Formats: sequence, C-alpha cells, structure tokens
Amino acid sequence: MRKWLTEKTTLGYTDSVTRKVIIIGSGPAGLTAAIYTARANLSPLVLQGLEPGGQLTLTTLVENYPGFAEGIDGPVLMEEMKKQAERFGAELIPDRAVRVDLSSNPFTVATESQEYTALSVIIASGASAILLGLDSEKKLIGRGVSTCATCDAAFFKGQEVVVVGGGDSAMEDALFTTKFASKVTVVHRRDKLRASKILQARAFANEKMLFVWDSVVEDIRDVAQGKVTGVRIKNLKEGWTREVPCSGVFIAIGHRPNTEIFRGQLDMDEKGYIRTKNGSLTSVPGVFAAGDVQDPRYRQAITAAGSGCMAALDAERYLESAPTIKP
Ligand code: NAP
Repeated sequence: MRKWLTEKTTLGYTDSVTRKVIIIGSGPAGLTAAIYTARANLSPLVLQGLEPGGQLTLTTLVENYPGFAEGIDGPVLMEEMKKQAERFGAELIPDRAVRVDLSSNPFTVATESQEYTALSVIIASGASAILLGLDSEKKLIGRGVSTCATCDAAFFKGQEVVVVGGGDSAMEDALFTTKFASKVTVVHRRDKLRASKILQARAFANEKMLFVWDSVVEDIRDVAQGKVTGVRIKNLKEGWTREVPCSGVFIAIGHRPNTEIFRGQLDMDEKGYIRTKNGSLTSVPGVFAAGDVQDPRYRQAITAAGSGCMAALDAERYLESAPTIKP
C-alpha cells in the first residue's frame, strides 16, 4: 500500500504526494541509495525501471562483489539488496520513469500511469551494453555470452573465447581475458582498431590474442545446448563465413547511458553520460546521479553501489540544508 507523505518538509511544500526523494533505477546504485535514504527516514520511492535489478540480473555468478567468498548469483544479490531497502521502508514500484521536469522544485517524475513529485531526485538509471542484436545472443546471455569481462573472464580458464569490438573496451576485455583463457580471438568489423595506441600495442604483442578483421559475428552457437560452443563469422569484404569454436563471447561494442528523458535538463558529456561534480551533484541542485549513468569508466557493481551511497548522503544533506519556507 502506498504511504503518501503528508508532513511539511524543509522546503515548505505541503503537497500530500510530494516525496522527499525519488530514486530512478534499481541496480546496485539505486538500491544502495534506497537503503541509505530509507535508513535516514527519507521514505524513498524507487521507480525500478524496465530491468528491475539492473545489469546484474543478466549475469550468473558474481565473484567480485565483496562479502561473498564463494560468489553470489547476480539476480540473488539484487533481490537481497531490494529486500534490504524494503526492510527500512523504501517503496519500490515496478514502473519506469518516462518523463521528468527538473526545471523547478518540487521536481516531477512521471511513469506511464502516474505522476510523482519530489524535493530531490537520485538518478541511477544505469547504462545498457550495446548488443549485436542476434537472437542467439539474447538467448545465451549469462550462459557464455557476457558484456563484462571483468566480471566473467575468470570462468573461462584454459578455454577459447571470442571478443567482439575494436575499441578500448574490447582491447581491455581481451587483454584481461588472456589471463584466464587459452586463446582470445578478437572479431572486428573493420581492418583498424579504434582503441588507443597503447592498448593496440599491448594487444598485438599478446601471444594469446588473434584478430579476425573486416568481420562480424552472424550467429552464436549453440542455443539448443544452452551454452556457447562457437560463433559463425562473416567477412564483410570477401563474403566468406566460417565457424570459430569458443566457450565464451564477450560483446564489447560500447554502452549507452539511459539518459534520454533527462536530455536538455542536465549537463551531459558528448556520449550522454550525466556530468557529476563534488560526489554525485548534477547541474541541477537537488538532483543527484549515481552508478553507470554517470560513469563510463569503472562500470562495476561495487563502484555503482558506492556512488549510490554518495548520492543518498548528498540528497540527505541537501534536504537538511534547504531553507525552510514559512507558511
Ligand atoms: P567505442 O569506443 O565506441 O568502440 C566500440 C567498438 O565496437 C568500435 O570498434 C566499433 O567499431 C565496434 N562496434 C560498434 N557497433 C558495432 C556493431 N554493431 N557490430 C560490431 N562492432 C561494433 O566503445 P568502448 O570501447 O566501450 O569505449 C567507450 C569510451 O570509453 C571510449 O571513449 C573509450 O576510449 C573509453 N574507454 C577507455 C578505456 C581506457 O582508457 N582504458 C577503457 C574502456 C573505455 P568501429 O571502430 O568500426 O566503429
């Protein structure tokens, strides 16, 4: 049942449905922000988004989140975070924000069915890994297809792996994966890498790495077995196709921050990531950003969770210091 706030707030608004804080997104950043703001008695409302739990729900075992010596399944970790937030009074709604108005406080955040207002907003809508768009890729994600080598490379000890992409992420992923895999084949759609020269030099010098140029992955096998056994690649210049056997495929063709609805209202970089300063502060006072939506660099569950904590503390401080408007 909804618990609408009715008391007068530090900003002086008496609207019975104005929240102290709305959190957009429910990955590690959003749920950590929810735990902290809930424990600070700010009764956060969390709009969970299209993918409740965020990107970790697309993975299986998470071995690098501190506190779980044997690892923990991504969906289980997110379910635990959700329960932890709810235990302290966070209200989670399985809906996504489709429109915001951050031009004046209280801010408006609207879903398809409901409009909410809030004195502060924490944006933790994340980023989505760009995928190739193959049906087999969708079916095998988390079963050998991954978008995070840092998370999953260690599962491929002594095995052959394919990395798709030619940018810095692809080279970093491929180089990292060579620590575990016996062979890493990079499939790139052109004959030149986009990655920085230093990463290119390291990649070309690595004896475990092979390059297939001017080629794209057309299919990932084997959906019927529920695991990756290889990929079919097609050469774009000569038209030939061939099979490359492998146990894992890392897709590293970029990420897209989920910031469409904030465009024109918040400062963003050229790729659409929200710019933050002094922790989680955005260009609009009272609006904070945490996790991958403002971090093209680290993109880890633990860094997202840490920045969610920062955003919660920043929001709490903002609400405390906002001038009380006398009736
Ligand atoms: P990126 O620079 O946009 O590179 C994406 C790569 O994927 C490109 O090589 C691109 O090919 C390829 N690609 C895109 N769509 C594709 C598709 N549909 N099919 C096949 N290939 C496709 O992305 P990123 O590597 O994730 O890097 C993002 C930003 O973060 C960059 O500014 C990067 O410098 C930075 N970054 C830096 C570091 C570091 O400094 N250590 C590490 C990671 C990321 P084309 O080359 O043909 O376009």
